Amino acid sequence: MPRPISLPSPAQAASRLADAGRRFYDRGWVLGTSGNLSAVTSRRPLRLVITSSGTHKGRLSGREFLTVGGSGTSLPSKKGHPSAETRLHLEIVRARGAAAVLHTHSVWGTILSDLHAADQGLVIEGYEMLKGLAGVRTHAHREWVPILENDQDMPRLASATHDVLMRDPAVHGLLLRGHGLYTWGATIDEAERHVEILEFLLEALGRRINHGHHHHS
Ligand SMILES: [Zn+2]
Repeated sequence: MPRPISLPSPAQAASRLADAGRRFYDRGWVLGTSGNLSAVTSRRPLRLVITSSGTHKGRLSGREFLTVGGSGTSLPSKKGHPSAETRLHLEIVRARGAAAVLHTHSVWGTILSDLHAADQGLVIEGYEMLKGLAGVRTHAHREWVPILENDQDMPRLASATHDVLMRDPAVHGLLLRGHGLYTWGATIDEAERHVEILEFLLEALGRRINHGHHHHS
């Protein structure tokens, strides 16, 4: 039986998410206070450490995080209010048993999620970098990335996210149309790796279309 992976303390989670946020900012994936980062610090009761709303991800020190419970409301604190998208993080944590959920707003994620919206998703296959996704052993893997319509109504968007995660159990991430990427992992490291891999693949796909070579799918 696999040994359960121990969860970080809230301070450890905040410090590691802050490191990830600064790296993502440097890559241009979370500009202008966009994106949000969370990690589970307790399963029972459920506790999630998440960036507070409006924080600059390039300047994270670890103090810009707060702890929320399973309903998405923050526990008593003085650090502002949780991101409006906290509900999506909780939905993913519950549906996937994820230990961390990371959300980026990259240029390529924004463009491709709009371009492929009519198909409700896009396929990535044939690239070596796919092997960076948990459980993927070969470049021949066919990764489906679902695309959901963007929505400012968070309960409705959380419910649509839940439906997609139930329908497509093998996916490693999902896109919100014209908005960005959500991905997750069994550890903070794995979630961070999934951001790097998926953002790389989206950029590769996007640049390819840009050069007039449509990927067969
Ligand atoms: Zn967002």
